[in-house]
Amino acid sequence: KVSIKKTKMESLSELDRKHYLHPTTPAKMHFEQGPSIIVSEGKGINIKDVKGDEYIDAMSMLWNVNLGHGQKELADAAQEQMMKLAYSSSFFGNSHETAIQLAEKLASLTPDDLNVVFYTSGGSESNDTAFKLSRYYWQIKGQPERTKIIGLERAYHGVTMGATSATGVREFQNFVNAKAPDFFHAKAHQTNCELGDKSDPNYEGCIRDIVEKEGPDTIAAVILEPVQGAGGVLFPPEGYMQAVRKLCDEFGILMITDEVITGFGRTGKMFGVNNWDVVPDMMTVAKGITSGYSQLGAVIMKEKIRDEIVKTDDVLFHGFTYSGHPTACAVALKNLEILERDNLVVNAKNMEKVLKDGMAFLEEKHSIVTKTRALGLLGAFELYEDPASGKPFDPSIAAAHKVVDECFKRKLILRTAEWDGDNIVAIAPALIVNKQEIENIISIL
Ligand code: PLP
Repeated sequence: KVSIKKTKMESLSELDRKHYLHPTTPAKMHFEQGPSIIVSEGKGINIKDVKGDEYIDAMSMLWNVNLGHGQKELADAAQEQMMKLAYSSSFFGNSHETAIQLAEKLASLTPDDLNVVFYTSGGSESNDTAFKLSRYYWQIKGQPERTKIIGLERAYHGVTMGATSATGVREFQNFVNAKAPDFFHAKAHQTNCELGDKSDPNYEGCIRDIVEKEGPDTIAAVILEPVQGAGGVLFPPEGYMQAVRKLCDEFGILMITDEVITGFGRTGKMFGVNNWDVVPDMMTVAKGITSGYSQLGAVIMKEKIRDEIVKTDDVLFHGFTYSGHPTACAVALKNLEILERDNLVVNAKNMEKVLKDGMAFLEEKHSIVTKTRALGLLGAFELYEDPASGKPFDPSIAAAHKVVDECFKRKLILRTAEWDGDNIVAIAPALIVNKQEIENIISIL
């Protein structure tokens, strides 16, 4: 006898298709087929779906669930804060205790005098805020013509108008042609060019070239990720971050680093820039600040930026209803406490070796695996038909997608980057991951 009663998966899938338009998803395919997984619970680095199947989440979802699932202390912190004070505005002179405490904590963690915090609800809002504050800073300093923002090709900074405009991954740029004027994209990672080597064949289109062509006095800021995440887990070459800092200093341009993925231990240091001892003028954070348990982002800026802003009698006409939301701040404080108490930044650094060894094993075993890399728990490898000659796979094969799909069938969640013909598979498990769990991930791969 065949049961005609729908399973929970089938009925939820039907409702999902009917009522739910998903972000960053192939819309037609999703509408026709429904969700590939409907997640219902999580514990540590594992998640379970409504069918009861368990998966290893080797991506910390969107590189954000850094403490893993099921951290009761975070839930308790949220509950306690909600019962004490559900919400308080930060507008019009209001402040509240948790937001102040978190601002002090962030100032203590960031390098140098990155000591002043503006809160947002996520990464995109943080980047838009950083762009507006850059322009505002120059306006107050009597240089209102400094309005332009230079980002890098293959950078990902989010999807609000400003963040989309700075994003260099072309698919996001091309979507409804959302690029605002005054945003430029430079070739990424051209160290010598940024140091001023004009004979370098890649000079045209590097940051320095754009600065010179547009005029230094028109550039407000340069933004870059210490490690490009969604663009393919691309590390800057030796000396690059320092070269960009030098270039910004030379032309008086503000340097913004987008630490939305790299912040709070992901790369084995508290912040990505700590790997290169570079101090930006502003840093944008989100994701790992709460490990995804609540929605929070921030711009953490040097005191010199605040010092200019407080010179005017103007109202700072920028802010979100949920800037400094008490629950999000309480969760962030507890999240950072656990991160330090449990030495998770050190764990990320220690697990880097296990991840690298595992990927080296894959490279040895499979002729198509190459360019394995990791900094802390931000790792990736690439697939080429013939790595020795650099022959890529035919794009119609969608090699990286195939690997990720096969892993999904084997209950392992990974993610691809397939821009410009690259077949990159990213691996970024939660910072609580242990050796055995990484070895499981590698053995499934
Ligand atoms: N910046 C980086 C480097 C990111 O990876 C992301 C999201 O993946 C963002 C910004 C955007 O953050 P959000 O999705 O919280 O707006």
